[in-house]
Amino acid sequence: MLIDIGANLTHESFRHDFDAVLQRATAHGVTRMVVTGASREGSEQALALARAYPDTLWATAGVHPHHAIDYDEATDARLRELAREPAVRAVGETGLDYHRNYSPREVQLQVFERQLAIAADLGKPLFLHQRDAHEDFLALLRRYRDKVPAAVVHCFTDTHDTLKDYLALDCHIGITGWICDERRGTHLREFVRDIPADRLMLETDAPYLLPRTVRPQPSHRRNEPMYLAHICAEVARDRGETVEVTAARSTGTAAAFFGLLPEASGA
Ligand SMILES: [Zn+2]
Repeated sequence: MLIDIGANLTHESFRHDFDAVLQRATAHGVTRMVVTGASREGSEQALALARAYPDTLWATAGVHPHHAIDYDEATDARLRELAREPAVRAVGETGLDYHRNYSPREVQLQVFERQLAIAADLGKPLFLHQRDAHEDFLALLRRYRDKVPAAVVHCFTDTHDTLKDYLALDCHIGITGWICDERRGTHLREFVRDIPADRLMLETDAPYLLPRTVRPQPSHRRNEPMYLAHICAEVARDRGETVEVTAARSTGTAAAFFGLLPEASGA
């Protein structure tokens, strides 16, 4: 049994066959999923899904750095309410993205810090995004790290040194199908074994990042949670573990991180 810790199931591409997507996920062992909230509206929708599918879906609530420019006082107030909801298990997706700079960097920094403050005030874990912004991201996260119970750097694609910085801050690491990409994910294959089992979690980031190891390649290119097993298989191979061990450990780690099981152990 697997847990997909990052699925953008509020994406419009899932609207026409949502129940079939969940059924296929379950049939492939992905029995629990955390729906990413990446905007105020998206976070509302993620919570609505989590309420509609209890024990299968949970949610995060946050504003992605791409949308930082839309973050106002009303957003902050609403995120604080959403983060108190039992089905909302983390604050985020939040962080910094200097790769695209859809929002100005100063705005991204302010909005990231406001969400760090929400997590700190409410004692919630963080679901984090970082791209091409490691130094600023690390500096800000470091100031809040001991005020939040846990933090996952989701869709980790960065360097080995960056990984060491996050592990030194006692962060969790989310691995996506990026690692299945023989063109740009090979560096991850070399050091994914350095992530302790109790810090390693798996995610599809669906509908993005369809694993390139899926055969036959679906014509629509839409990723969905049922493909999480392909990521698990690649991670297991790179770590020199059986698929069963990687699955069991990452599931235990995810359950503990998001509080999906009482007394869940990381073993
Ligand atoms: Zn992200």
